[in-house]
Amino acid sequence: MTSLLTELLNIENVDVTGYRNDQDCVVFEVSPVCRESICPNCGHVSCSVHQNHYHLAQDLPMSGKDVFIKYNRRQFKCKSCRKPFSEALDFIGERRQYTDRFAEKVVSDLLHSDLHNVARNHHISDDVVTSMMRYVSQKKVNSTIAIYSASGSTKLP
Ligand SMILES: [Zn+2]
Repeated sequence: MTSLLTELLNIENVDVTGYRNDQDCVVFEVSPVCRESICPNCGHVSCSVHQNHYHLAQDLPMSGKDVFIKYNRRQFKCKSCRKPFSEALDFIGERRQYTDRFAEKVVSDLLHSDLHNVARNHHISDDVVTSMMRYVSQKKVNSTIAIYSASGSTKLP
């Protein structure tokens, strides 16, 4: 059964396994539901975890508090090609200190305010907002290319 916290956090394919409720922030510890991952080198499904790498990322605020997610990006060892690889996660890009949905929220806030105020409202630096802008626009470009290559069209709009 899905726990209430997992339901409230609402990130697909992760379970909330613990939390810390501080005065001005909440930290959710999450773990992946899926036991395996697909090797990016050869496409083989691997379920042998080589190492655990824990990271902290900022997520959408909740009840006026900043929210952080402590997550594990597991490193697998592929039994087929023998190469280690870090799993791809749906909710956060590689080496990002913020979740995709938080970056999208911050970038959409820029439509109604200026960079410095958006940064201040979310308790992040101007530089982080700038990196989110680049990240979100790059993701959009990549998904457009993926849609067009899947449709067999060679021309981009
Ligand atoms: Zn492989």
